[in-house]
Amino acid sequence: MLVPAGSGDLYEKRKGVYPKAVDGFYRRLKWAIMAATLVIYWGTPWIRWDRGPYAPDQAVLVDLAHRRFYMFAIEIWPHEFYYVAGLLIMAGIGLFLVTSAVGRAWCGYACPQTVWTDLFQHVERFIDGDRNAQIRLANAPWSADKLARRLVKWQVWLLISFLTGGAWIFYFADAPTLQRAFWTGTAAPVAYAATGVLTATTFVLGGFMREQVCIYMCPWPRIQTAMLDEKSLVVTYRNWRGEKRGSVKKAAAHPGEFGDCIDCDQCVAVCPTGIDIRNGPQIGCITCALCIDACDKVMEQVGRPRGLIDYCTEDDANRERQGGVPRPILQSLLRPRTIGYLCVWTGIGLAMLFALGARTRVDISAQQDRNPIFVRLSDGAIRNAYTVKLRNMEARPRPMEVRVDGLQGAVLWTDAMARDQAMPVIAAMVPADSVARLRIFVAAPAQAPGAARQDFRFTVRATDREGGHDAEPARFERPQ
Ligand code: SF4
Ligand code: SF4
Repeated sequence: MLVPAGSGDLYEKRKGVYPKAVDGFYRRLKWAIMAATLVIYWGTPWIRWDRGPYAPDQAVLVDLAHRRFYMFAIEIWPHEFYYVAGLLIMAGIGLFLVTSAVGRAWCGYACPQTVWTDLFQHVERFIDGDRNAQIRLANAPWSADKLARRLVKWQVWLLISFLTGGAWIFYFADAPTLQRAFWTGTAAPVAYAATGVLTATTFVLGGFMREQVCIYMCPWPRIQTAMLDEKSLVVTYRNWRGEKRGSVKKAAAHPGEFGDCIDCDQCVAVCPTGIDIRNGPQIGCITCALCIDACDKVMEQVGRPRGLIDYCTEDDANRERQGGVPRPILQSLLRPRTIGYLCVWTGIGLAMLFALGARTRVDISAQQDRNPIFVRLSDGAIRNAYTVKLRNMEARPRPMEVRVDGLQGAVLWTDAMARDQAMPVIAAMVPADSVARLRIFVAAPAQAPGAARQDFRFTVRATDREGGHDAEPARFERPQ
C-alpha cells in the first residue's frame, strides 16, 4: 500500500499472515476441490488412450514436435487452432459466468495459487503448529529448533514444488518415456529448464508470496469488479445484525445494547489473506468462505444463530437491513446476465461439438509455382505447376484421389510420372497422421473461353470406406 509522501518508506511493510486451521462445510469443500484439482493435474499425463499404432497413446498431449494437440478422442492440427481458441473463449466466458453468479469462487477454491498456497500452509501447520505456534516461532530468535523446522518445511515445500514443476513437462511428451529419460539425464535440456523454473516459481509464490499474488500481482481482482453486480453472491458480514460488537459478558450485562458479533477475531485469524471481512467487501477477499466456517462455529458456541457472516448479495443485504427476507438463492443465480453468459457459453460449446463431429479428416491445400507461371508444351497445351499438400488426420494410412473441377480438358501428373501418363485423376496413399506433399502438373488446352486466368478447384477424396473430401480454390494461368 502506498503511504503519503515524506513518511519514509514507499511501501507498507508486509504483515505476516498465519491463518488458523478451521473446520466446517466450506473448509471441507475446499479440501475436496483441492484433492480433485491436484489429482487431475498430477494424474492426467499418465492416462493412456489407444489411438492405434500411428499416434501417441497419451490421453492429453501437446505434441509440439509434430504440432498436434491430443485430448482423448480429439486431435487438433495446427490449421484447426480455432478449436483451442474456442476453448479459451469458453474458459473466459465461464469465468465471467461464475464471477457474476458467485463472486470470486474461482479465486477462493480452484485457482492454482489458492490450491498450492493452501497445500503449503497445511504443511506449515503440520511442522510448525497452528497460528499461535507459527507466530511464536516467527518472532523467536534463531535457534537449532527454529533452523531445523525451517529446513524441514522448506525441503517439503521444495519437494512439492519439484513434483509440480516436473508434472508440467509430462503434458508435452510421452510421460513414461520422458520420466525415464529425465532420471537418466538424457531428456532434452528444455525439460530440465522448465522443471527448474516451475519449481522455483511454485516454491516462491506458494511458500512466501502467497496472498501478495492475489492482492498485488493478479489482474483478475481488478477485472472482476466489472463482472460483479448487486445480485452477485459475495461473502458478507451482516453488520446490521453484528454491530455493536461486544463480548458475551458485556452483552449479558447490557441487554439490547450489543449485536451478535462477540469481537473474537476468529474470522480474521482464519483468513488466508489476513483481512477483516467486517470492514466490508475488499479486493483482498478471495471468497474462500473460511471466515463463514469460523464465525458459524463461534455462533454455535455462544448459542446464537449461524450466518453472521455468509454468502449474500448486496440486494439481499439491503433487503435484510430494512427488515425484509432474502430472495431464494436460485433467483439470484438465474438472472438475465448469468443466463446470457450461459447461453453464449453453451452456444460456443455446441458449435464446437458440431464442428468437431462434422469435420472431415482429409484436407488439401495448394500453392501455385510463380516462376514460371506457365509453360507451353510441344502439343500446344499450357502447363501450370502446383505444390499440393494432402493431409491425412486419421491414425492409419489412407488412399486418396486428387482431381480438378472447373478446368475443362485438364489432365494431371506428378514429378514422379511421365507426361504421357497424365490422367484426369491422381491417386496417392497418404501415411497415417501426416501430410503428403505432391508436385502436381496441370495441363489444359491453350484456348479457353473467357479470360486468360481461370479459377478452378483441386478436390481430394478419401477412397476408403470412411470417405471424406475437401477442396481448395486455385488459379490456372495462360498467356494473354
Ligand atoms: S468470528 Fe464472528 S463473532 Fe467473531 S469477530 Fe468475526 S464476525 Fe465477530
Ligand atoms: S474475508 Fe473470508 S472469504 Fe474473504 S478471503 Fe478472508 S476468509 Fe476468505
